[in-house]
Amino acid sequence: MTARSPRRAGVRLSASLAALSIALAGCVATEASALAPDLPSPEPGAIRVVATTTVLADLVARVGGSLVRVTSLVPKGGEIHTFDPRPSTLIAISEASLIVANGLGLDEPLTDLVATVGSRGPVIQLGEGLARTALIADEGQPNPHAWLNVAYARLYVAAIASALKSALPTRAAVIDAQAAAYDARLAELDAWTRARLAAVPAANRKVIVLHDAFPYFANAYGLEVIGSVISSPGQDPSAGEITALLAAIKASGARAIFSEAQFSDKLAGAIAAEAGVVVESNLYDDTLGDAPADSFEGLIRWDVDRIVAALQ
Ligand SMILES: [Zn+2]
Repeated sequence: MTARSPRRAGVRLSASLAALSIALAGCVATEASALAPDLPSPEPGAIRVVATTTVLADLVARVGGSLVRVTSLVPKGGEIHTFDPRPSTLIAISEASLIVANGLGLDEPLTDLVATVGSRGPVIQLGEGLARTALIADEGQPNPHAWLNVAYARLYVAAIASALKSALPTRAAVIDAQAAAYDARLAELDAWTRARLAAVPAANRKVIVLHDAFPYFANAYGLEVIGSVISSPGQDPSAGEITALLAAIKASGARAIFSEAQFSDKLAGAIAAEAGVVVESNLYDDTLGDAPADSFEGLIRWDVDRIVAALQ
């Protein structure tokens, strides 16, 4: 369902390098500590870590605590699939001791940019570290949204801890302790999510999503995704695709359309009205939002509450 064009990524890359030659004083990328108020301030000597998204920035900040100064290249509420790198992106990359990306086609333009600009430290691609058998592919291309299965987010956390220990070997014990404490919270979050979704009647578990962000969540917690409104972010469906989606909703008995806070809900709302199903407009997946969805844990709890309410 979700096709991505490497050619489009190349165009963005050149445009961004051209922009660099014009101006270096761009807007400031989002610092994770500016998102969630419960994150500790970076201590003197904290290393600079760049994450491609606010979700990954939050995971890094939870594991690294005051030992890291984390920046997200895509700001809160921004959309990674259609993100255009800015001059500030290049500066952040060039100063980073570690770059944390998802891979699996999610943040390719940014990892291409890192390869071009060069960074002080290594790049880790968390999704690429998952076992191939764990990935859900569509037309041969793995879906990148693995963090929405909390069990996979825990694997991301383990990989982040390992990378931070390589960057800060003398602080390994602190990083291990912080990672273990956060992992315990995620284990609880995973169990809570499973229990909440288990309470949804089996007949109500069919859903339509806006973009194809929920296959790992659905697999882990027992939903069935019937289809998506848009095949690729930034690309509106054709009249034929909308007709096919309406037919699929009718044939499957899907209960709800889940739209997302970072996109307009106009199209999803119109399709839901036509199909006579519920629309939930404010789910988060690729980006964090305002409190209480200002952390990964908050995002999952926010989504689960809304999903369960829409399907009851
Ligand atoms: Zn996405």
